[in-house]
Amino acid sequence: MAELLSQLLDAGLLFRSGVDGIYGRSAIFDNVIEAVNAAATRVGASENAEVFRFPPAMPRDRLVRSGYLGSFPQLLGTIHCFCGNESAHRRMLQCVDDGQEWATQQDVTDLLLTPAACYALYPVVAERGTLPAGGGIYDVHSWCFRHEPSLDPARMQCFRLREYVRIGSTDQVLEFRQAWLDRAQGFITEIGLPFEIDVANDPFFGRAGRLMADSQREQKLKYELLVPVSRDDKPTACMSFNYHMDHFGTPWGIKQADGSVAISGCIGFGLERLALALFRHHGLDPAGWPSSVRTSLRLDT
Ligand code: ATP
Ligand code: ZN
Repeated sequence: MAELLSQLLDAGLLFRSGVDGIYGRSAIFDNVIEAVNAAATRVGASENAEVFRFPPAMPRDRLVRSGYLGSFPQLLGTIHCFCGNESAHRRMLQCVDDGQEWATQQDVTDLLLTPAACYALYPVVAERGTLPAGGGIYDVHSWCFRHEPSLDPARMQCFRLREYVRIGSTDQVLEFRQAWLDRAQGFITEIGLPFEIDVANDPFFGRAGRLMADSQREQKLKYELLVPVSRDDKPTACMSFNYHMDHFGTPWGIKQADGSVAISGCIGFGLERLALALFRHHGLDPAGWPSSVRTSLRLDT
């Protein structure tokens, strides 16, 4: 695990920050991310999805309404800022001088760090009113934050997530997810990565979370496309395929054209993990990757 990280750091593809899971990226690494992101556009072109690009921060109340706090409090990062006067400023600097915690002098804001790209979408769709008859298909991208420091380079605290989201009827969502399971396998085969598809669960918090995770698996709400990245014995989820049922439609009051509550699902490309998988399997220098892979990712154009 740490071995792949050392290789990436030694090759100058990633740069240390001093905190596990937070890295700078080199031009070569970022070019691969952009190539994978562009490939995700080509793979999804037939969806004619509406494009949304979101910033890495979002309003706190929106994530709370989506139920995130109940399920994943351990991953969430809230944004605090200095809002005080000059004497409060002096107190804060004093803390720095004394080697004490200065962040206690900051106030919580109405923002937090986006944990997954699609959370920013549901309120936007809800505000527009009832969905059209065919429902909606959306293409979203965001930098994401999850507080899960690790030496595994595939478990970063800040990473980019590209998603396609379907909102409509159960049939529309399940058909969409199946089409993406097929498309994704074609794409991953084309870029020369070994993979398997498996049922999965999200890392729900606490004892009640165990039950939620079991039920998620039982109902096959989440599939992952796994590729060996940092470890051979435990492949890493590089893409996920999620069926939310009415988990977002109900709290946001999103309605289908017939007035019933909207159902949703999303599929995600973990851009950093896919890039890492490419480096791991084809080598640390993209110039030496098999020509079929370079062609598929349009790295030569
Ligand atoms: P894991 O089980 O490995 O924690 P997840 O099931 O929580 O992942 P999702 O919530 O489905 O992941 O996120 C969608 C995609 O985002 C994942 O398939 C993965 O490719 C990517 N991803 C998730 N967490 C991270 C992370 N810490 N660092 C880099 N990419 C990540
Ligand atoms: Zn999503």
